[in-house]
Amino acid sequence: MTTLILPTYADVEAAAGRIAGYANRTPVNTSRTLNDLLGAEVFFKCENFQRMGAFKFRGAFNALSRFTPEQRRGGVVAFSSGNHAQGIALSARLLGMPATIVMPHDAPAAKVAATKGYGATVVSYDRYKEDREAIGRRLAEEHGMTLIPPFDHPDVLTGQGTAAKELFEETGPLDALFTPLGGGGLLSGTALSTRALAPACKLYGVEPEAGNDGQQSFRSGSIVRIDTPKTIADGAQTPALGHYTFGIIKRDVTDILTATDAELVEAMRFFAERMKMIVEPTGCLGLAAVLQQKQALKGKRVGVIISGGNVDIARFSELLAA
Ligand SMILES: *Cc1c(COP(=O)(O)O)cnc(C)c1O
Repeated sequence: MTTLILPTYADVEAAAGRIAGYANRTPVNTSRTLNDLLGAEVFFKCENFQRMGAFKFRGAFNALSRFTPEQRRGGVVAFSSGNHAQGIALSARLLGMPATIVMPHDAPAAKVAATKGYGATVVSYDRYKEDREAIGRRLAEEHGMTLIPPFDHPDVLTGQGTAAKELFEETGPLDALFTPLGGGGLLSGTALSTRALAPACKLYGVEPEAGNDGQQSFRSGSIVRIDTPKTIADGAQTPALGHYTFGIIKRDVTDILTATDAELVEAMRFFAERMKMIVEPTGCLGLAAVLQQKQALKGKRVGVIISGGNVDIARFSELLAA
């Protein structure tokens, strides 16, 4: 096996330069109610207010802005039904290159429409019969497109690391930081920024309890693959961490925690009622873990990354009504 060369914080800084003026510098919000409840100071980095509604725009834009002129002509291909697709589609439009997104035939109509609305070509496939990676790779080969994966790519994960860089620039060092975890692009990028800007800060990845492959991988020291987990956190339904992401997570993260769907709904309700924010279930993982750790966090300064806010309003009401 070849040894991967892992990106560094210098690459996060370079990414920050590339996305400046394109990505939003998202707000850092606080809640007095929560601070009183915990006896702690909690800072939320609100990527639900990022362009297209999630941090994924950062990594997508960073990756696409590094394309050579030849790659730009061929355009980009991505396979995703979620936020990565929209991040790629919007970034491609801003950079004036074609984008093709491979989506399951039964993807929600609203997501297909949003992706097409950014000017991307949508290719659908049968998720029960066809392999989306193979389709993506074939399109890349036949049409000279460049495939950008959703997390396991140096330019993607260093782009994602710019959110934590901005957070620390605003808050100074923190005692602990909680970050949602799917395939690990956000957590590994966050780890690079954390170790550079707040070396003593404890860093936790939080994933759905039904899909704790990251926790199993972290604790066993090698990547564990599971079946696609059943959870309302659709942004974290990944079966396994990536090689780049795990390499950094293994080295730099304090621990991986989990949250149940019921805890995610509780956090979603808190954001809506107390902070007047719509946060998608996956974006609630960090707060859900903080609420489990009340005692341990007393007197601490704590960061939480809210990763996104893309949830259908009907679905949102249904989850809160249950
Ligand atoms: C993609 C995504 C995640 C997980 O990010 P990874 O880089 O795959 O770990 C978390 N929250 C939201 C809203 C996402 O779109």
